[in-house]
Amino acid sequence: MAKIKKSLNMHNDDVMGVTKVCVRCKKMFTYLGFGHYYCPSCKKLDEEDFSRVKNYIYDHGVASATEVSDMTGVSLKTIEQYLREGRLEIPEESPIFIKCEKCRIDIRSGRLCSECARKLSTAMREEMDFDDEQIGDVPKKKLGKMRFLGKEK
Ligand SMILES: [Zn+2]
Ligand SMILES: [Zn+2]
Repeated sequence: MAKIKKSLNMHNDDVMGVTKVCVRCKKMFTYLGFGHYYCPSCKKLDEEDFSRVKNYIYDHGVASATEVSDMTGVSLKTIEQYLREGRLEIPEESPIFIKCEKCRIDIRSGRLCSECARKLSTAMREEMDFDDEQIGDVPKKKLGKMRFLGKEK
């Protein structure tokens, strides 16, 4: 991958080389303005975890996050993080989804449903650190699943 030249910083462009907190180990590191907020050492570990989770889902089809976590040894928190980042998506047939952070509707990935994302101003997007990858699809078979709501074990 091409290296970003330091000289780009001359334009006071704060997208380049900003200090971010790694989502995995919570250490500060220099973020170069693309991808997810992982420091270089976590990035590698994260890619291994992510491919374990992804392969498990491809091999076994619909699985609950708890099952995936048990079988792959990747923590539930990490799996939820993947969902929130929009890197993983819950299959249509799943009885369990994650919730839109604003209206609490079921979504298959990300942080907001497209409806709520559309209403965000640029300033709000910045404040929430929100990008389009974090818009989640609402599962289509919503009505058939309604009965499961509130029936938590
Ligand atoms: Zn890290
Ligand atoms: Zn929403």
